[in-house]
Amino acid sequence: MSYAVITGSASGIGAEVRNRLESQGFDIIGIDLKNAEVTADLSTQAGRVSAISETIEKCGGKIDRLLLAAGLGGHLDVGALVARVNYFGTLALLDGFKDALAAAGGRCVVIGSNSAQMRPVDETPMVLSMLEGDETKTMDIIGDMHAAMVYAGSKHALTRAVRRRAADWGAAGIQLNVIAPGPTETPMLQGVKDHPTISKSLDMIPIPQKRFGKVEEIGGTIEFMFSDTAAHMHGSVIYVDGGSDAQVRPDKF
Ligand code: NAD
Repeated sequence: MSYAVITGSASGIGAEVRNRLESQGFDIIGIDLKNAEVTADLSTQAGRVSAISETIEKCGGKIDRLLLAAGLGGHLDVGALVARVNYFGTLALLDGFKDALAAAGGRCVVIGSNSAQMRPVDETPMVLSMLEGDETKTMDIIGDMHAAMVYAGSKHALTRAVRRRAADWGAAGIQLNVIAPGPTETPMLQGVKDHPTISKSLDMIPIPQKRFGKVEEIGGTIEFMFSDTAAHMHGSVIYVDGGSDAQVRPDKF
């Protein structure tokens, strides 16, 4: 049996990839707040621990494909929750599944965001504290910050944390990459569009292709990243954003 583990499997990009990998014959273990094989709240330490142990039990300690898609958007009021799920929850599961990925020579895709490089957040105390892995200190720094201020930083730190693992994990036989979508038509984006003020930030994102992404375009790229064709791709950050990153940072890559 080949197991594919997907966090955020109940909606949006996670659900799209779930369908694609199911069609390929993988046994799916979805992890989400509801409508999943493993029900867990990844914003809490207890939820992360139970998600890891239940999943390892179900897959017998071998994970062939891992998609870390669970996340919260910048339209929420509570910035702290975004940091807990997008950074600390995602990293806890990534590290918790390392041995199971190594046992299967597994492939992992983590969902970042093109917003991770849109603003100079590299050296902010929040990002540095995330990279130290100090959740308590990060929560102190965030305080009552709005999620819009936290989202890009959480994805920036997440992308760096993944790339920092590429050397060791590659040597352990694990393939590890990040996809960085731009705004993509999912329930999360709908939440941003429906927000009275945050919705205006969408108008400020330059998109050369003049449209948002479709969920099947992100899901299809992830399917490719999981395929044998992409077996030599490792430690990469793949932008799928209609050209926004190239327009904002043409001389950086
Ligand atoms: P979505 O809201 O459709 O799906 C997110 C899933 O994560 C949901 O099923 C939700 O229940 C789950 N989730 C949220 N909090 C959780 C928690 N505490 N514990 C367990 N599961 C939890 O959103 P989506 O657009 O499919 O987002 C998937 C990923 O893509 C996210 O990491 C998001 O940040 C990223 N992303 C999305 C866009 C976009 O515009 N849609 C752009 C860039 C990156």
